[in-house]
Amino acid sequence: MFIVKKKIGGKEYYYLRESRREKGKVKAVTVAYLGKTKKDAEKRMKNFVKKKEEGLKKPENKKEVMVEESVRTEIGIDELARYCKRKGFVYPSGEVYGGLAGFWDFGHLGVELLRNIKDGWWNFHVRDREDMEGMDGSIITNPKVWEASGHVESFVDYIVVNKKNKEKFKVDAHELGKYEKDDKYIVEGKFNPMFTTKVGPVNGNESYLRPETAQSIFVNFKNVFDNSRAKLPFGIAQVGKAFRNEIAPREFLFRSREFEQMEIEYFIKSGMKCDLIDEVKGIKIKMLTGDMQSGNKEEEEMEIYSAWKKGLIGDWQAYWLAQEFSWFILLGAKSENFRARQHTSEERSHYAIDTWDLEYKFPMGWRELQGFANRGSFDLTQHQKASGKKFEVFVEGEGRIIPEVACEPSLGVGRAFLVFMLDAYEYNKERDNVVLHLNPKLAPYKAAILPLMSKGEVADISHEIFRELKEEWNVLFDKSGSIGRRYSRNDEVGTPYCIAVDQETIDKKTITIRDRDSTKQIRVKTKELMSVLRDLINDKVSFINAGKVVSTRVK
Ligand code: ATP
Repeated sequence: MFIVKKKIGGKEYYYLRESRREKGKVKAVTVAYLGKTKKDAEKRMKNFVKKKEEGLKKPENKKEVMVEESVRTEIGIDELARYCKRKGFVYPSGEVYGGLAGFWDFGHLGVELLRNIKDGWWNFHVRDREDMEGMDGSIITNPKVWEASGHVESFVDYIVVNKKNKEKFKVDAHELGKYEKDDKYIVEGKFNPMFTTKVGPVNGNESYLRPETAQSIFVNFKNVFDNSRAKLPFGIAQVGKAFRNEIAPREFLFRSREFEQMEIEYFIKSGMKCDLIDEVKGIKIKMLTGDMQSGNKEEEEMEIYSAWKKGLIGDWQAYWLAQEFSWFILLGAKSENFRARQHTSEERSHYAIDTWDLEYKFPMGWRELQGFANRGSFDLTQHQKASGKKFEVFVEGEGRIIPEVACEPSLGVGRAFLVFMLDAYEYNKERDNVVLHLNPKLAPYKAAILPLMSKGEVADISHEIFRELKEEWNVLFDKSGSIGRRYSRNDEVGTPYCIAVDQETIDKKTITIRDRDSTKQIRVKTKELMSVLRDLINDKVSFINAGKVVSTRVK
């Protein structure tokens, strides 16, 4: 085993890798994430190796082995929707009136998870970088924006009906021929999925609810560029709502009519090389190029850097693909469920030069999670022509130029929500309950305080601890039911740490923390609880090294 350092978004991350022999070839695979400093990495590597050796020595210790090997349990998308409703994550919108297809309301746990996803995304892409500015555009804007962008004219979906089961679905223009030729289907016509609305109470002007966040970035490009005194290359990021009147909203949050996007437009001077490309070295993902699709080939695992070297993917696309994939993996998603697929030439949008999708293996099959279009200077040129305003910027030695969008990573928050839930979900037979292995940074509750007595000093101190932790995190005060029941209830909503307060907390000023994933328990000094939790949540210490391991009956 060996430690490797990777630079992602200008920051260093350490990974543990090991060489494995597969089909006669020696291959290096990433075994664990080790943290952000060399010191942390070395410490964790020692723990990891120790744990592994212990596991090998004691194969009879089933529980430990099982925890290490715990994997995602397959769950259907509708079953996940039911689970989310039962546990208070997501409800069908207006359900008491029968709901409304494509609209969802989020309960307390769902909002917390959504916020943690969006905050995690914002920190990684905006705050942690020096080349990114943020913005937040309005949902309704001047309709001329959508005329200039081509959405009024070319943003169309085709409605296809399956004659047998009458099911309607949407297809893109490039897929149309296939359905027109097949007599099992009827192409019912085309329609524009933009929602319209009237602006002004009397004789209002027709406008649109934005179908994507990208155009707010383009029309504000000069404002942001001038205010930030940015230099190319640089990006503008936005998280916000978008609306599409989808023909067939289905598959839970995968396709809704109201959704959120986390989007970046990354601007360069035409021909500018990606000087961040070395950061992608060592990152591997399954890839499926346009040519592989034409030759009916399956995806293949490749190093993104080598794929770029071979000319299979552009440098900026490669860089952003690796960034986004790493973002998911660092937050606990499982790498084997991702692949990068290039759009075939027929499939590409009206504006795109080259497009890749980051796809995820949803229960319904491989589907688009995030798009990586290379939009060139299409949008800024369109807005310059239509508005008569200048979108050019001054570049030393070149004069005034219109920047190009080298890459547009565009991700739906709802689809990211599904990925983290699906990869976290495990039905644990031994515990006989679901364990949601959400990364602590994403978990709706970071901890639950469980007083073992409902009155007296134990209850008082539990309240005190609860109030203190609440200042920093969303935590739960859970006093009802047996301790075992309380543990499983918290496993089911992904609470990584349960804190049991008992008589020893009064007598010895120590407290127990129970780890959701391993069910192990440690005892720490009560006054150190905050800092221990902070280190655990931020992955700065492994659980068994964070306190004194104790054995208990209740797992
Ligand atoms: P699809 O082909 O699945 O309809 P798209 O190619 O039209 O998606 P884009 O216009 O590229 O999607 O939008 C960027 C991202 O926004 C998508 O990758 C997806 O994550 C998200 N997204 C788009 N439409 C929806 C929707 N109706 N519901 C939820 N998320 C969506």
